[in-house]
Amino acid sequence: MALITKAIKGTKDVLPGEVYKNQYIEATVIEAAEKYGFKEIRTPVFEHTELFRRGVGDTTDVVQKEMYSFDDKGGRNITLRPEGTAGAARSFLENGLCNETLPQKVCYITSCYRYEKPQAGRLREFHQFGVECFGTPSPLADAEIISLAKSVFDTLGIRDLHLEINSIGCPECRKKFHTALKEYFSSKKDELCETCRDRLERNPMRILDCKSPICAEAAKDAPVVIDYLCDDCKAHFEEVKKYLKAENIEFTVNPKIVRGLDYYTKTVFEFISSSIGAQGTVCGGGRYDGLIEELGGQKTPSLGFGMGLERLLLLMETQGCDFPEDSKPDLFIAALGEKATLKAVKIAKDMREEGFSCLYDLNRRSLRAQMKYADRLSAKYTVVLGDSEVESGTAKLKNMQNGEETEIALATFVSGYYNITLSEQLNDLEINGETLDFSSLFGLGDKENG
Ligand code: ATP
Ligand code: MG
Repeated sequence: MALITKAIKGTKDVLPGEVYKNQYIEATVIEAAEKYGFKEIRTPVFEHTELFRRGVGDTTDVVQKEMYSFDDKGGRNITLRPEGTAGAARSFLENGLCNETLPQKVCYITSCYRYEKPQAGRLREFHQFGVECFGTPSPLADAEIISLAKSVFDTLGIRDLHLEINSIGCPECRKKFHTALKEYFSSKKDELCETCRDRLERNPMRILDCKSPICAEAAKDAPVVIDYLCDDCKAHFEEVKKYLKAENIEFTVNPKIVRGLDYYTKTVFEFISSSIGAQGTVCGGGRYDGLIEELGGQKTPSLGFGMGLERLLLLMETQGCDFPEDSKPDLFIAALGEKATLKAVKIAKDMREEGFSCLYDLNRRSLRAQMKYADRLSAKYTVVLGDSEVESGTAKLKNMQNGEETEIALATFVSGYYNITLSEQLNDLEINGETLDFSSLFGLGDKENG
């Protein structure tokens, strides 16, 4: 059946030859988050559907159109997480993190699921790096998470991203803004898509985030939320900008950003690239002072962002950013015959224990085939073990880069390997006219293999 060998539409495999790029990005984001004091949290891939209805918001595209929801065999309505914030917030409450010293700063790398039209940079299963900072009203925190996102982009060498920020105020400002929006759109009701007509009553601000070009056209001259901010929200926004400037982080205020989740308040922001087409938003986030309360907790002002890892990778590849080289085996042992194979197994174990990657041919092919295999694996060094090498107790370690061969004793293979490879790396380095004995340097002299 053809279906068996066809992945679900909008999903993507990461193959072994490519995964080093993902690993690099993942290690980079977690390391950056740690520098800012965020610790990883791991939550389940599915939650009660109700959590997302509340946490993401009933009037959002995500909840109305994009969720993967199903009844499990026990009749529970369950949803594959479309984003990371709701699950992290649920965990924060359920596990009592809310009673510990605030703020609680968590981060995660998670898969997310949204039923959307797949295209470049838009998948049905995608991955997010996200951070959440629970329990601080301070504008310092807004600037801090923006700074963290920026530091990730800088470390990865991404250029031409611009940061757009806005404030969408608190529920008080929102009331006045909603009234103004309703008034504006009431004469344009017939131009709006069906979803937005419904939103006009329930949450008119959502219309501004609609992807339909017709709604976007209708919204062209709509009032902007920033004109409706209360004094407190205005002051908060000014402080966020002040702290961003203190870090020399460039931004533009885009009064049109409203973001796709219902519980955003005050600061919202996006990092946008023009290099990867229409799906240019690589990171989006903001403050959600009402969310924890909405989920049944105490009032806990909080904020966070989500960064799309596929878009990030796409952007890096498009811009030709540097990735560290894919890892290569340190040593390939070509073994011929049973005795040599036994020796190879033992040497490989010792090498691996010392932290080297070491391979041999599981399929026990001919020498020619094994050397071809070593080549394809890009092994840094190879050694051939046959009957005569086992007999004499010595073999030739071959540097695959320059073809140079050096004799190596099988009984002290690992320290010999250290000696040869390190002295090759430090070829010209002599200290006081003497060559260093690297094996004694690493205390390997007494750890021999036999
Ligand atoms: P968009 O406007 O592109 O639909 P969004 O506002 O729905 O994005 P968020 O919910 O803020 O996105 O998610 C944060 C980030 O996750 C986005 O900025 C993007 O990088 C990434 N992302 C969102 N949806 C997808 C998807 N379907 N495929 C790949 N990445 C996505
Ligand atoms: Mg979306």
